[in-house]
Amino acid sequence: MSTCFYDFHTHNPTPTPGIVKMLCVDPGVALNDVDGIFYSSGIHPWRAGENFDMSVLQKMLPHLSAIGEIGLDRLCGVPLQHQLETFSKHLIWQKPLIIHNVRCTSEILQRLPEPMLALWHRAPVKRSSLSRIIERGSMVSFSLEGLRFLNPALVPLSQLGLETDDSSVPIQEIYEAAAKLWQVSLEDLRCQLEQNFMRFYTLSG
Ligand SMILES: [Zn+2]
Repeated sequence: MSTCFYDFHTHNPTPTPGIVKMLCVDPGVALNDVDGIFYSSGIHPWRAGENFDMSVLQKMLPHLSAIGEIGLDRLCGVPLQHQLETFSKHLIWQKPLIIHNVRCTSEILQRLPEPMLALWHRAPVKRSSLSRIIERGSMVSFSLEGLRFLNPALVPLSQLGLETDDSSVPIQEIYEAAAKLWQVSLEDLRCQLEQNFMRFYTLSG
């Protein structure tokens, strides 16, 4: 039986025994088969102003378990119109989406073809935004920092993910903090998140 911890979104490519990762890589990067690593890629909203050949991403698709991180960011300085165009280009593929959102919850919810396919990474913790995302059936994922400000009653465990993103905090530490917050045992939480990871990213096993 597996006893792995599942990292729903990370930029750290180093394989780690006992950890299964959804690793976010830049479009065009060559992907190798590595135990415990699954891949996501997409054009980040911060780079939406750049002219980008989508066929590069298209070629990677057979090796990707998810598209992202993609989304909208009201504070990043790239005109929102460019971000919207780039975001929309990713929505044609039937793959789970990893969403980056800064103050654009409504705009993203309006455009998601199927909210069930989305995991909102570093999801908003504000009640009004978080509740709308949860009601639409999306997954939400939190780093250690996000957990500090979160009301756990707003998030059913079946829609929860945990992530290291670009931090160096070990994923186990984030699981421990979340287990305390939801008042479940570490092992129950780990089992639940294993199921969530497999279901959401539609992986077998
Ligand atoms: Zn990230």
